[in-house]
Amino acid sequence: MNVAHYFDTMSYGSAPESDSEARQWLAAHQDGFGHFINGRFTAPSEVSFTTLEPATGEVLATLSEARQDDVDAAVKAARAAQPAWAALPGHSRAKVLYALARIIQRHARLIAVVEALDSGKPVRETRDIDIPLAIRHFYHHAGWAQLQSSEFPDHSPIGVVGQIIPWNFPFLMMAWKIAPALALGNTVVLKPAEYTPLSALLFAELTAKAGLPEGVLNIVTGNGAAGALLAVHEQVDKVAFTGSTAVGKWIRQATAGSGKSLTLELGGKSPFIVFEDADLDAAVEGVVDAIWFNQGQVCCAGSRILVQEGIAEDFHSRLRERMSRLRVGQPLDKCIDMGSLVAPVQFDRVQAMVQQAVAAGASLYQPEIEMPSGGSFYPPTLLSDADPSSAIMCEEVFGPVVVSMSFRTFDEAIAVANHTRYGLSASIWSESINQSLEVAAAVQAGIVWINTTNVMDAGVGFGGKKESGFGREGGREGCFDYLKPDAWMKAPMRKDAEALPIETSRTAEVLDRTAKLYIGGRQVRPDGNYSRAVVSPRGVSLGDVGEGNRKDIRNAVEAARKATSWARTTTHNRAQILYFLAENLSIREAEFASRIRQMTGVTMKQATAEVEASVSRLFTYGAWADKYEGAVHQPPIKGMALAVPEAQGVVGLICPPESPLLAMISLLAPQLASGNCSVIVPSESSPLSATDFYQILETSDVPAGVVNIVTGNAMELADTLSKHNDVDALWAFAGPAITHCVEENSTGNLKRIWSGFDRQIDWLDPIVGEGREYLNRATDIKNIWVPYGE
Ligand code: NDP
Repeated sequence: MNVAHYFDTMSYGSAPESDSEARQWLAAHQDGFGHFINGRFTAPSEVSFTTLEPATGEVLATLSEARQDDVDAAVKAARAAQPAWAALPGHSRAKVLYALARIIQRHARLIAVVEALDSGKPVRETRDIDIPLAIRHFYHHAGWAQLQSSEFPDHSPIGVVGQIIPWNFPFLMMAWKIAPALALGNTVVLKPAEYTPLSALLFAELTAKAGLPEGVLNIVTGNGAAGALLAVHEQVDKVAFTGSTAVGKWIRQATAGSGKSLTLELGGKSPFIVFEDADLDAAVEGVVDAIWFNQGQVCCAGSRILVQEGIAEDFHSRLRERMSRLRVGQPLDKCIDMGSLVAPVQFDRVQAMVQQAVAAGASLYQPEIEMPSGGSFYPPTLLSDADPSSAIMCEEVFGPVVVSMSFRTFDEAIAVANHTRYGLSASIWSESINQSLEVAAAVQAGIVWINTTNVMDAGVGFGGKKESGFGREGGREGCFDYLKPDAWMKAPMRKDAEALPIETSRTAEVLDRTAKLYIGGRQVRPDGNYSRAVVSPRGVSLGDVGEGNRKDIRNAVEAARKATSWARTTTHNRAQILYFLAENLSIREAEFASRIRQMTGVTMKQATAEVEASVSRLFTYGAWADKYEGAVHQPPIKGMALAVPEAQGVVGLICPPESPLLAMISLLAPQLASGNCSVIVPSESSPLSATDFYQILETSDVPAGVVNIVTGNAMELADTLSKHNDVDALWAFAGPAITHCVEENSTGNLKRIWSGFDRQIDWLDPIVGEGREYLNRATDIKNIWVPYGE
């Protein structure tokens, strides 16, 4: 070999990173690790498991398997430490987080090597991406701790947080979870993944040196059963989970009705869309980062290439050529592109999915490159010609496997990109900024990258739509997921609605007045043709309303879905319609007040105050419609990230029994302002304010389908709405039994559920009755990364 040879082939040798320090650390723990509880390690348990080095299959360490007692002890320590930790001035917590960032920085090399050994990923990635990003999370959130009292003055920490993380980014995901939780005054019990627990335990050892008080961070190791114990623990106030959609759904169901806050960051099948005006070489390099970074074991991996027909052949040939130069090798070799999958079971899962795709007719390309022996190394893989509805096109592989298909038109690209149950991320490649931003707006994803991919930052929120989960991690919006609003928490807990009054008298004039349902902009008879009496608290019949059923809900959801272009009307127009509703309601103030008085038994003065507050509330959201805006982040790239609040789509609203007009308007108006379409189930006991409101809707230019109203049994209608997979979110304010039901039912498409913390609030009080809390809940933030320059 001579210089000319190397110049021609561009081949280069290996450059192994030393593992001696990491091996020494492991040797010091050869008797096994205990759990980290209350600032110290417990003795290693007799019930243990091992973690293996994926690249060799060798045993690295023995860990303790957490049982109920261990989880109890960890949660107890976190509970005991929480009040004092929360009571510290923000500056004191900021200093601790700052110290944690510094201590990681000082041990960065050791952590990077331990991480590469335990997970099989290239040390180049742990060294240059995972650990620096983890450090950035601690610095960034030290900042939020410092600013907490000025930036979140009306919020308090949630309490004890159970955090469950996967094996693909063990250290980064840990930092990502614990930095915001701790910064804002929560304490944590964390369960790392069974395959990759070591870097979390190394971190635990380091925390004592950084002055983290005992009990603030606790780590229990174990398998999914340990995670389940933590998720359902009654002393855990919030669960933050990252992992598979299947387990995320299980946690949603298992915690239903418990009052726990929940954030889920789940899987994806993210589109990587290449338009014919893209810089093709850059896009090919983008694919390398999208799907071969971390061997494709990345929730936001660009695993579906959609390439415009005219350039498809050229693009694929460049891609195949690039694949033939990828290097798969030992994780500690600094000159490799890909290391080992995390475990043989993951290898088997990936291999089975590829074999199944090929058997179903997909074309396979795997370059003829040198593959290491042993371990769980899987080659970079490109599949094409797959059936659009086949498993390989729809399901997450979580391996170095990308599937590619072509599209013709812009509209087709969007349709195919959104044809998935997931909605985590999307990567768009085009030299036209107009086209890119239009796709960014249309694609259903929480994170969008334009001409880049897989970039992340602590200051930019991360999280998905649809079955990719809910909640955001990072940035200001991520902070809200670790806080609760003080004013709400002062309100008493809501109780389930009392039994409806029994009809004792009926006046002749109400006999023929059965209010219909309001669906698709029209008053329609209920499908079952049944009605129910509306009775005053003293037993006097006030009229009848339609008894909505499953079919009525289906029609209402269909009408709402057809109207979702409402999200694209200008915010100015939405504001105008809210003001128009207010004006028309105000004109009929006396009539609405009288109705409220009849239904609820309040005085005329109180009823008038409710109508006036409803008019004011419509004004509030008319005001907000063009002012609830996003942010422009400046992450450490040459470019920016646009944080845009987006409508969620179709939202079900289960109204409480009390304040029948005002509560309904308080739930509806933020949806109108945000661009959502609603299916309302009005107060079960006092639905006539809602049915009277039909005429206000009809005279205020509200487009058909944007608001739909189905009267009837609240529990039955909530049950149906929560099981409907075309409803994106559900606000259930009608008591804990309904909250439990809808949370449990919501897993089909992982609806966002909000129950107003199950508090009995005073709707007349604007501090809890209106404002940002509602708008935050009515929208999802989409973060669009826009790099600039060459
Ligand atoms: P899981 O979702 O099972 O694991 C994620 C974490 O949850 C781990 O700590 C796991 O523990 C824990 N866990 C498992 N079951 C429960 C439970 N019932 N209650 C609470 N916690 C639980 O992912 P897998 O490791 O099994 O990977 C399977 C597939 O999931 C992958 O092939 C990939 O498709 C997807 N995945 C997606 C990730 C993402 O970021 N979106 C991350 C990881 C996987 P333990 O590891 O000990 O079993």
